Amino acid sequence: MRMRDVKHRAIAETILDRCDTLAAISELPDGILRQYLTDEHRRANQQMADWFASAGLQTWQDAVGNQWGRLPAADEDAPRLIIGSHLDTVPYAGAYDGILGVLLGLSLLEYFREQPALPFHLDVVGFADEEGSRFGTTLIGSQALADQFQPAWLDIPDRNGVRMGEAMQQFGLDPALVREARLDPESVLAYWEAHIEQGPVLEAQGLSLGIVTGIAGAKRARVQVRGQAGHAGTTPMRLRRDALAGAADLIGVIERIGQQGVSGDVATVGDVAVRPGAANVISGQCDLQLDVRSLDDARRDAMIEKIEQQAETLARSRRLSIEFDWYHHAPAVLCDDTVRERLTRAVELTGTIAFPLPSGAGHDAMAVASVAPVGMLFMRSPGGISHHPDESVIDEDVARAFEVLIEAVHQQAQRS
Ligand SMILES: [Zn+2]
Repeated sequence: MRMRDVKHRAIAETILDRCDTLAAISELPDGILRQYLTDEHRRANQQMADWFASAGLQTWQDAVGNQWGRLPAADEDAPRLIIGSHLDTVPYAGAYDGILGVLLGLSLLEYFREQPALPFHLDVVGFADEEGSRFGTTLIGSQALADQFQPAWLDIPDRNGVRMGEAMQQFGLDPALVREARLDPESVLAYWEAHIEQGPVLEAQGLSLGIVTGIAGAKRARVQVRGQAGHAGTTPMRLRRDALAGAADLIGVIERIGQQGVSGDVATVGDVAVRPGAANVISGQCDLQLDVRSLDDARRDAMIEKIEQQAETLARSRRLSIEFDWYHHAPAVLCDDTVRERLTRAVELTGTIAFPLPSGAGHDAMAVASVAPVGMLFMRSPGGISHHPDESVIDEDVARAFEVLIEAVHQQAQRS
């Protein structure tokens, strides 16, 4: 074993310990959940700030609640190389999705602090909301960087009726100032994101690292199925307009359309709210959350058209109304060729195969891509498991990813 390996392994251990520390900051007593603009969001940012500060690095929270760290270049006007991912989670999450990429960045800053100065600011960003767990709108933190934050989002309520704008004020942010979080595209050399694969491809290849070619485009809709509520005992079956039974049929339709697609095409209903929601009441209304993805935007839109057509037929036959409110649209994004080559070369220099693969999951890099060249490094996900408490990562893969990022920063410095 080389000395370098030993050192990187020790750093990988530190990174994984820090993942555990962040995992303990949770809204749930029996699992991990950190949502946007909550006390846990604040505590996670504070923990990051403490780590940055105790390493002698600059740190700040931006206007939308992203937490930053910086190893500054000697020249204040130097460009920035940004490394990041997200700090928020889905309910009952794993400890590594997003978080691992931010903590790899922190360790990178700590490493380069001991090296000769870089010709650019080395920045790390922990995005405040990627998953959209609280308000249903994803990539809030990174879209603010890309100046794509929509003021209408401020009116979106969470499950308890708290609007995003109110939540921001309670958090100590001014909703009127969100645009201050935007990046100046001229100042950014590139954005790199290291992330777990969240799928089974690298493991099946027997490889630890992958280079992302592009990210699937996603659309999300709130689907409202409306019928007529009624007494479950007194309303004959033939006279019913049962919203829940209609929603069940619709979910089946959506699943079949997803199954008919090519590899990478997926359609999912992940949430159903039944109203009024009692054993002895026929449901009058069902609210569904629909998510449709593909690596090809045109193919995804064709799936959506099919879903809406079949929903119309279903609504007619069951005398229901079915409405789609498409509130989220993230087009498919290709990673930047130069960044891909840089990361690929860095992986190869460390003696590992750089496996190219697309990402079916959305990532902050998609949003940042509109203002900076982006690239992503995937680490193998054992069992392909993610968005689940059993999500894991292999420490050797983390050590390798760390070594790759060091190599890539060195290369970037030689070319800057
Ligand atoms: Zn993630």
